[in-house]
Amino acid sequence: MKPRLVLVGLGHGQLEILARIEQLRERYEVGYVGLDETIYTGAFPQVIANEMASAVVNLRPDVTPVASRLVSLDPVKRIIETDQGMIAYDHLVLATGAKSRGIGTGLKPMTDVAIEHIQASRAVTIVGGGKAGVELAFACVRSKQHVTLYAKQILPDLPKRVGRHIARRLVASGVTLIAQQYEGGDAPDGLVLDATGVVPVEWWHRSGLAEEGSFIPTDAYLRHTTYQDIYITGDMAMGLNGGVDAVRSGRHVASALLGDEKPYKQRTSLNILLTTPGHALLTFGRLTWHGRCSYWIKRQIDRRYMQKFTH
Ligand SMILES: Cc1cc2nc3c(=O)[nH]c(=O)nc-3n(C[C@H](O)[C@H](O)[C@H](O)COP(=O)(O)OP(=O)(O)OC[C@H]3O[C@@H](n4cnc5c(N)ncnc54)[C@H](O)[C@@H]3O)c2cc1C
Repeated sequence: MKPRLVLVGLGHGQLEILARIEQLRERYEVGYVGLDETIYTGAFPQVIANEMASAVVNLRPDVTPVASRLVSLDPVKRIIETDQGMIAYDHLVLATGAKSRGIGTGLKPMTDVAIEHIQASRAVTIVGGGKAGVELAFACVRSKQHVTLYAKQILPDLPKRVGRHIARRLVASGVTLIAQQYEGGDAPDGLVLDATGVVPVEWWHRSGLAEEGSFIPTDAYLRHTTYQDIYITGDMAMGLNGGVDAVRSGRHVASALLGDEKPYKQRTSLNILLTTPGHALLTFGRLTWHGRCSYWIKRQIDRRYMQKFTH
């Protein structure tokens, strides 16, 4: 009998693993737990700005979910509890993502309904000046919404001159920039959106996968440090960061499940965020480029991604 491989969650990494399902089925009895569609976060700001029709990507039609939600997991007995009952596994891949901190409307997990809600709001107050908050602020202002952005600093991971340049562009585009922490006291303008980053989900600790309030620790192969039959991809893993890492971790785990056991190598990743109409900021580590060429590259990447995962 083949070992039972259970894939949970339709995160960005899982889509990469599911892309190799024929090969996986030769070695494993594969089961999938999760929804049949998800949002490609690289593109949803463009949907808000009415520059793309949809950011929904789907589960492959040759995969039928055995349940739609994981509730908890017993890593010692190798059993997951789902909305459809208990499922045993020999190997497990978790790609259920993390969640927003809880200020106003969270951006993670992102849903189609949340996107419609944001689009329908005349004004938005965005909290957080990292890449997600900045990209969202530009997208909302491109769609003619009134935007307030609370950020002590703009793009704190990048050189200060880049942050200052982008802050000037935000203000020139019509964004009201408030250089302080959002306290939630005054009546906010429109919908409050939490772009302050993600935090762990409670069931990770309840199931013994992580310390309370921590992300899940993984070894060099992206396996859980204690339960080596569990692979972790994307935002759940302590050492991974962002959608590019989520995609790369999924590809890595797919190869590992197919017998190519190499350690996962962290790499500097290319990130591009759309800014003013026809422009984007490209970042590679601390290198940056703001202009039309970055915009064109980003649109190509997103178009290709959507084509690959829209069935
Ligand atoms: C506004 C914004 C813009 C961003 N832009 C970029 C970008 O341009 N580039 C970039 O690299 N990163 C970007 N990010 C970060 C990126 O979104 C995340 O790093 C990425 O989504 C992480 O993917 P993941 O695979 O961990 O899971 P997620 O994308 O969070 O997906 C998790 C999936 O699991 C499902 N799920 C959750 N719980 C369960 C459960 N219990 N059972 C079954 N299924 C479950 C969810 O419904 C969802 O489909 C952006 C984030 C935001 C907020």
